[in-house]
Order: sequence, then C-alpha cells, then structure tokens
Amino acid sequence: MVITEIFKSIQGEGTRAGLPCIFVRVTGCNLRCTWCDTAYAFHGGKKYTVEGVLDAVRALAGEGNGRISLVEITGGEPLLQPETPALAEKLLAEGYTVMIETSGERYVGVLPREVIKIVDVKCPDSGEPDTFDVANLGELDKKDEVKFVIASRRDYEFARDFTASHKLAERVHEVLFSPVFADPEGRWPGLNARELAEWILADSLPVRLGLQLHKFIWDPAMKGV
Ligand code: SF4
Repeated sequence: MVITEIFKSIQGEGTRAGLPCIFVRVTGCNLRCTWCDTAYAFHGGKKYTVEGVLDAVRALAGEGNGRISLVEITGGEPLLQPETPALAEKLLAEGYTVMIETSGERYVGVLPREVIKIVDVKCPDSGEPDTFDVANLGELDKKDEVKFVIASRRDYEFARDFTASHKLAERVHEVLFSPVFADPEGRWPGLNARELAEWILADSLPVRLGLQLHKFIWDPAMKGV
C-alpha cells in the first residue's frame, strides 16, 4: 500500500466525533474537489505491506484496557488501493471498529460488510458532481453514513433533494451535512455553519450538521491531526 500518514487523533467528523481514533491516510485520489483539504495526500507517500500498516496501528493503539479500538482508513481515496479490503478484514479480525471515508466514486461493496462506511456524495460546487456510484446505495445500511460537503445554497438544495429522492435517512445511520471550512491560506471560501444550520431547520431535514472538530481543536492547516 502507499501511505501518506498513520497517526492518532480525535475523530473529527460523523457520529463518532470526539472519540480517540487511529487514522490510516492512503496516498492518491482520482478526484480534485475544489475545497480539498488533503491535497498533500495526492502524491508521494511511503510503501507499506498490509502487515506493516497493522504493526503501525497496533503501536499507536496500545494494549489492554486503554487500547484505542477505533481505526479509520481515509485518504486520498482508500478504495483506489487494491489492498484496502484486506487491511480492513485484518483490522476487524483484531477486534478494531473500522471506518472508511470514501468519495463515493468507487464501489464500496468490495469491503467487508462490518466496515462502517462514510460515503460522500459530491455536490455541484465541489467541481466533481455526478461522480457518485449509485450502486453504493445498495451496499449501505443502518451503521453507515452519507456525507455532503456543502459550499453554497446550490449545494444545499442538491443535498436536500438527493437525500429525499433516495430516502437516505431511512437507509443509513446518519446523513451528514458539513459546511466547507474556509481554507486557512485563502484559496477557497467557507460556508457559514450558522447559515447551513438555519437552512436545515427551515426545511426540518432529518440530517445531522457536521463540523470538523479537529479544525477547532488544532490549527486548521495542521496535518496529522
Ligand atoms: S475525494 Fe477527498 S481526497 Fe479526493 S479530492 Fe475530493 S476531498 Fe480531496
């Protein structure tokens, strides 16, 4: 596998936000979202065997009662690497709760069922609309989450309509609407979380407002957190 970083942090997103978690960030992505905050994972990286990744996770997770049991495979795009399903399988076999963050463009059915899938649906202002593989809808269930990263009112209306037309709230554990966080270097603007909250409330949507907790705890430009 080609890996950008393996690190321990606080889960920043989704329904497990706030929990200690080991992150495995793979290298490479076939999309180029306008607001991507992990472009440093597009290139480079270091080669690992699956066993080498497991060793690194074990070392960070610790042992005994204090062992961190949550692992997230993220990127980049984890499903571009053929070894990712095998890595997930082995982590599950060692008793970890395994999550994966994916763009939605790759078919998640290659993963073990027990993996908690956080699947993006790209909105128009991402610059990567219409990339979602609709076959993924058949693979998601009540432990999984669908995430829309929202940059504008246009994105919000897309996410709202997609959620309703595919009955997402009934299919998955949680539908997440996350505002784009402004780039610390000013390359793209953010969406005000309050504005998004007010749109959600006005429409009484069955979704969860998602904020990237790690960007409030650490410097938003910091890597490895
Ligand atoms: S899919 Fe994720 S990693 Fe790839 S460009 Fe978009 S935000 Fe960045």
